[in-house]
Amino acid sequence: MIVVGGGLAGLRAVEALRGNGHEGALTLVSAEPHPPYDRPPLSKAVLAGETDDTTVEADWDLLRCDLLLGQRATGLRLDAPGRGGVVASTAGDLPFDGLVIATGAAPITLPGDGRQHVLRTIDQARELRSRLVDGARIVIVGAGWIGAEVATAAAKRGCAVTVVEAADAPLSTALGPEVGAFTAPWYAEAGVELRTGVKVAEVRDGGLLLAGGGRIDADEVVVGIGVRPDLSWLDGSGLLLERGVVTDGSFRALLDDGEPGSTRPDVVAVGDCAAWWSARYGRPLLVEHWDVALNAPDVAAAALLGGNAVYDVAPYFWSEQFGRMVQYAGNHATSERIVHRGDSSGRKWSVAWLTDDRLDAILTVDRPRDLVQAKRVIAAGTPVDAAAIADPDVPVRQAVRG
Ligand SMILES: Cc1cc2nc3c(=O)[nH]c(=O)nc-3n(C[C@H](O)[C@H](O)[C@H](O)COP(=O)(O)OP(=O)(O)OC[C@H]3O[C@@H](n4cnc5c(N)ncnc54)[C@H](O)[C@@H]3O)c2cc1C
Repeated sequence: MIVVGGGLAGLRAVEALRGNGHEGALTLVSAEPHPPYDRPPLSKAVLAGETDDTTVEADWDLLRCDLLLGQRATGLRLDAPGRGGVVASTAGDLPFDGLVIATGAAPITLPGDGRQHVLRTIDQARELRSRLVDGARIVIVGAGWIGAEVATAAAKRGCAVTVVEAADAPLSTALGPEVGAFTAPWYAEAGVELRTGVKVAEVRDGGLLLAGGGRIDADEVVVGIGVRPDLSWLDGSGLLLERGVVTDGSFRALLDDGEPGSTRPDVVAVGDCAAWWSARYGRPLLVEHWDVALNAPDVAAAALLGGNAVYDVAPYFWSEQFGRMVQYAGNHATSERIVHRGDSSGRKWSVAWLTDDRLDAILTVDRPRDLVQAKRVIAAGTPVDAAAIADPDVPVRQAVRG
């Protein structure tokens, strides 16, 4: 068995393969020089200088796994379905019977020849932290999750922080402009200048050149405008590739052979690089969240060993920004309406998305109990009373009808 990608999903796949009874050879190939580590702390505790090591504990001897660190997969040749194939890599050709693709995603960058920081690896986090010094002018492009967390850390370290966002509100892509707008005052409160509706043309030495003319001067530019799986090593492999590797609900890779739904039983893809079929939502989901990287590999590894379990949980995500714990569960892509639960200009509040009397998703700000209870209601799909959901004094579980 070969696992390509040494992030959390890759490590969890290794553990799950052994846990599900795989006794044969097992190799993990990862482009980074470090053993698997957690990324969420990079934009939080690591930038804040509270920790420098986020390695995920693993007993590699017990796992009997060969670690090929600092090595990159460069190509994939598949034999007949079910017969494995060969991963071409910088460490040579690696034949396999079963393959886990867990190569995650890479940050999108902006045009221009000026220095731009992105934040995906521990080395990038350490490098950026060294630049977040008192008085430094830091311009962050993108008021998404990463942008908000970097702004939080930079402001705390005494930097003069400006966040530039093309949309009209922070977190617009993730939450929609109406809900995202409720987070805008948090920037000013932290002394961060938020400039929305501003498009960047390119990064130049000394700052940003704006699309409408004009520039913003900066000592450092941080770009947090999203990520995209790098699937170039899978070109020509015969796998169906869209924004991610397209899989069925058990993470088996689909083939691009014109036969709808035909899969490779010996190739799975999981984590940030996989677009998996969700029966719950009736469409593929590509979820770039830690929770999926942690839990989904169990199902993917079982599938590779012949199992048929399906992964169909509602997505979950958290962010720590401007002194708040922000959590989200569910999926509101097709929701009909928004219900406010508490005053969104206050300190603690939630927002729910509903369709008829079904709770589709919830966003909670320092209301962890709402999150936990709503997660269960969303998973069960039980109808709720919208008026009770709108009342922050009524526990979410008591809003369930019947
Ligand atoms: C700064 C930061 C903060 C985050 N904060 C949160 C948070 O608060 N909450 C949350 O839910 N999620 C958060 N996330 C997202 C979460 O960390 C990811 O969803 C998770 O790391 C995905 O794990 P993965 O194993 O699929 O991919 P990755 O962690 O990206 O790991 C993929 C690995 O594969 C390697 N690789 C890529 N291509 C190749 C190749 N061709 N050959 C060999 N190796 C290759 C990469 O170098 C990488 O080491 C954050 C992410 C970042 C970057």
